[in-house]
Amino acid sequence: MSSTVGQVIRCKAAVSWEAGKPLVIEEVEVAPPQNMEVRVKILFTSLCHTDVYFWEAKGQTPLFPRIFGHEAGGIVESIGEGVTDLKPGDKVLPIFTGECKECRHCKSSESNMCDLLRINTDRGAMLEDGKTRFSKNGQPIHHFLGTSTFSEYTVIHVGCLAKINPEAPLDKVCVLSCGISTGLGATLNVAKPTKGSTVAIFGLGAVGLAAAEGARIAGASRIIGVDLNPSRFEEAKKFGLTEFVNPKDHNKPVQEVLVEMTDGGVDRSVECTGNVNAMISAFECVHDGWGVAVLVGVPNKDDAFKTHPINLLNERTLKGTFFGNYKPRSDIPAVVEKYMNKELEVEKFITHKVTFSEINKAFEYMLKGESLRCIISMEN
Ligand code: NAD
Ligand code: ZN
Repeated sequence: MSSTVGQVIRCKAAVSWEAGKPLVIEEVEVAPPQNMEVRVKILFTSLCHTDVYFWEAKGQTPLFPRIFGHEAGGIVESIGEGVTDLKPGDKVLPIFTGECKECRHCKSSESNMCDLLRINTDRGAMLEDGKTRFSKNGQPIHHFLGTSTFSEYTVIHVGCLAKINPEAPLDKVCVLSCGISTGLGATLNVAKPTKGSTVAIFGLGAVGLAAAEGARIAGASRIIGVDLNPSRFEEAKKFGLTEFVNPKDHNKPVQEVLVEMTDGGVDRSVECTGNVNAMISAFECVHDGWGVAVLVGVPNKDDAFKTHPINLLNERTLKGTFFGNYKPRSDIPAVVEKYMNKELEVEKFITHKVTFSEINKAFEYMLKGESLRCIISMEN
């Protein structure tokens, strides 16, 4: 048994002290896991746009100091009371939305919105006692999404950890812990395009390109990418996108451009931008009679979605999803197996790699629209 069991661990974490200010690598204390909690040694983490929104705190509730990070891979260091599914040494992916396996949602085949552990962006402490497991010189540091993976060690509820194949390379499959599974599942589990259909993808970051990958796997014949950043189009060709639209190139709403291109509208659309106007366009560009739009992007706190009700009466469907409707503990091990069996490629989503001390570079790459996923290696 490791000598750290039951002890406070002192380790490095990237602490965000203030909105929009560079993270600072600090030595922090990480308390032992309590009831139903697990302490995890993070080996690799990556940056998702959701971290950036809450770090910027422009359209979201500010909560500082905080340790961000929710897309990662690690190894169980120790377990708290009541944990029977995991043991020290297990390979795990932390997931921002959990699965208690007991509530109505976990028992429903249609939902992954666990009553106990569903995503909560404003909670900064553990469910068990409302306290943080992180501190620096006695000052508590808030958690983020129940995962806080920008730390060498973190404490996570057992329901937010997917136990995966011990052979899986964490520097690759860590991206399945949020973005790639989210995009893939949004298409395969929620939009469900049929073979030969036309699919529009709004936002060609890692989440959108994973949604496009889902459309390709489902046999879509036309996959149309919509983005304001034209440098995304070249990269996107590797993901099976066949046509591109930049809203800035047109003097009418992009939904009208798409309706014209597709003789009445696309069969499915998946929105992965976080911009409320793109969400409305993604809905209004689907064909009447059968079109389905799926919202994935995280909106600002005060956003409102506005469309004429006739757009719905005309037999269009609007849906939304967290984590592509995957149940983290039940479904993610199988998504990792798809990578292991070479049915799913994740390497093409990984455009940058940095060490933990260079974590602020990952934020710069994302803000400039240069990266899809930047892997942050915790060792060194
Ligand atoms: P990203 O920044 O890498 O990609 C977003 C892309 O959208 C960029 O290429 C940007 O140029 C484009 N874009 C922005 N506004 C646009 C607009 N109005 N029209 C067209 N394109 C526009 O981000 P990402 O990491 O791929 O995440 C995408 C979104 O998905 C974010 O909002 C993120 O918070 C959200 N997300 C949701 C879930 C979920 O479970 N629902 C999970 C992960 C991420
Ligand atoms: Zn994410």
